[in-house]
Amino acid sequence: MDEIEREYLELLRATRALIAWEREVADVGFPDVDVSAPRLSASSPQPAAEGIGQASERAPQTASKPPLPASASPSSASSEPKAPASPGAPQAVANAPASPSDPARAPTPHPSAGRGAPTPTQRPQLSVLEEKRREVETCRACALAEGRQKTVFSRGREDAQLMFIGEGPGEKEDLSGLPFVGPAGQLLDRMIQAMGYARDEVYICNVVKCRPPKNRAPRPDEVEACRHFLDAQIEAVAPELIIVLGRSAAEALRVIDDHGQWRGRFGTYRGRTTLATYHPSFLLRSPEQKRVAWSDLKKALTFLGRPIPR
Ligand code: SF4
Repeated sequence: MDEIEREYLELLRATRALIAWEREVADVGFPDVDVSAPRLSASSPQPAAEGIGQASERAPQTASKPPLPASASPSSASSEPKAPASPGAPQAVANAPASPSDPARAPTPHPSAGRGAPTPTQRPQLSVLEEKRREVETCRACALAEGRQKTVFSRGREDAQLMFIGEGPGEKEDLSGLPFVGPAGQLLDRMIQAMGYARDEVYICNVVKCRPPKNRAPRPDEVEACRHFLDAQIEAVAPELIIVLGRSAAEALRVIDDHGQWRGRFGTYRGRTTLATYHPSFLLRSPEQKRVAWSDLKKALTFLGRPIPR
């Protein structure tokens, strides 16, 4: 091997390393929004009022949110969506309030005023979440309990306007007890930031709370065994919009239609509006789809009445 060949191979290795790094940190594909609220762990005490306030300056609809305790629970996962749906014009789903491509049927944007001061009923809801988190820690209702290291319940604001739901914990989540950590979690944080939210200003959880072996998708019986925990989370948080991450979660929340179409679709689940998009794990493998995912997130922002960052 001569000198030129060696230099060529070295350049090739460096280029591959750079591409891998960019994929890992997800430093492409989403707008860079300065959200200066502090990053909090799931077990951190409530988001500092100043931090949320800073974010709220850019998001007036959340400005009136009072400081409430962040979720103290462990949680989340990264899963692999199967065959991605066409980014083309979506069709209506049976329970969907509207197709994103059909402005005439688009869901009515949520009032941008956001939520006001907590009502007396909100405090009991917070205790329900804590109670459910503790139930999950000892739950053995399905076979996934056998292989878990830690249960993974949630992270983020328990009164969040926006909720993200993935399919189940991955390896890093299983070890840490925290949702969406590792590269996929970093990308999700990037997506959240691109939408103008602080990392812990949203609520994040999964369909199942224990890691499926080898990161496979949860089986239907596992989803059903765990569904009551997810339903309790949705009812307690009462988000204005749920963003469903990946095909498996879309199936669990019945966003998928008879033709297998799911991405970019609005739907409803337990009376809450849902919008499905790609899972961050898929986007790490297919970074060219980030722009498609961003188009979904812009639909979410329009629905929520929030400004779309450029
Ligand atoms: S996945 Fe859900 S239902 Fe199954 S053991 Fe874990 S907490 Fe219980």
